[in-house]
Amino acid sequence: MAVDWLLQQWFPALSQRPGVKIACDGLSAIEMAFEDRPLSPTDAQFDLISSIREAISRSPVSWSPQHVYGHLDKSNLFDELTWWEKKNLEVDGMAVDFRKELEAAHQLIPPNPRFFTELAALFVADTKQSRLSDHFIQECVTLPRLRQQWRNRNVISEESENLIDWETLGRAMRSLPAGLQRWITKHWVGMCGTGKFKVYWGLESSAACPRCGEFEDHLHVPRCPAASARDEWDRRVTALSLWMDIHLTSPAIKHAILLLLQGVRDSSRPTSRLISRTIRPAFLAQEAIGCQGLLEGRLASLWLSLQQNYFDKIHSRGRFLCGPPVSPSNSSPLGSICGNNGTPFNIRMTMFSSMNVTVLSTRGFTLSLIWLQLIYLRILEAC
Ligand SMILES: [Zn+2]
Repeated sequence: MAVDWLLQQWFPALSQRPGVKIACDGLSAIEMAFEDRPLSPTDAQFDLISSIREAISRSPVSWSPQHVYGHLDKSNLFDELTWWEKKNLEVDGMAVDFRKELEAAHQLIPPNPRFFTELAALFVADTKQSRLSDHFIQECVTLPRLRQQWRNRNVISEESENLIDWETLGRAMRSLPAGLQRWITKHWVGMCGTGKFKVYWGLESSAACPRCGEFEDHLHVPRCPAASARDEWDRRVTALSLWMDIHLTSPAIKHAILLLLQGVRDSSRPTSRLISRTIRPAFLAQEAIGCQGLLEGRLASLWLSLQQNYFDKIHSRGRFLCGPPVSPSNSSPLGSICGNNGTPFNIRMTMFSSMNVTVLSTRGFTLSLIWLQLIYLRILEAC
């Protein structure tokens, strides 16, 4: 814009396209502004770089960018510097003065308005996004509605949302193949092969549980009162307990988690009276998240530091010197129920096949407990 103005002021009748040399001590900045590579909206400073490129394309001159080394006065006499190097020092000084001005006026974090050559801009809560993060935008669009659904269906309360270790849950989820991620998500919202959805899909005429005859949805599966379901639940909880021992889970944490799991099948709430004072805040947080939340992998964030403390303790005793044992990625807990191609339909759940009852009822809570293992594994890795 300044060059355009200068041209009109000084050479309004100039017929040739003039050339202008420009220098900058930021090599990557000058490369980003002038190179031909297409910009991605996810690039850092996308708003600024794209606006500069647009300004360059609109300007009536041919630009010749070059790099100039900065701060050369620290190792050279000023008179020995080139004209560009001296000018670079000059504008650096002006920039420092301007920063001090802003500092004095408490305006060090200036507003980020839409630039005059910025073709499009996204503002979120009055803040312009300098780059477009797909995760951030997805959250902005979907999270408010998702939260509303959670509240409407009493799945995740406002209080428990803040207690959940979302980071660990995210890492566990991202460690799975995309197909399995979708499958797990569907299970936790109940969209799986239980009676309710079999009727909905037109596969069955009755939604009755094949074990006990009650209405079968995904919440019924781990709570089925049938003896065979109870036996399988006990077997799986025992397996989880052993797995936690093998992975050096703090005995107090294991006790608390198994106690909370009992609450899934026993409607009388687990009591915190049997929980040590150290563990109690995490126990209460997990209790607020709920037994179903625990089954669905929403572990409280307080467990991480407690497990870390336990590792520190046994490390100081010399029993544990090399960090927590971590399963190799190809033998993750969920890998044990996945086929080679990772598709959920290859689950090898045949323990009930000889009992003339459907496998589906046990698959649900087996998946729950193995998913819980996978998430706890991510906690152990983070310790
Ligand atoms: Zn049942």
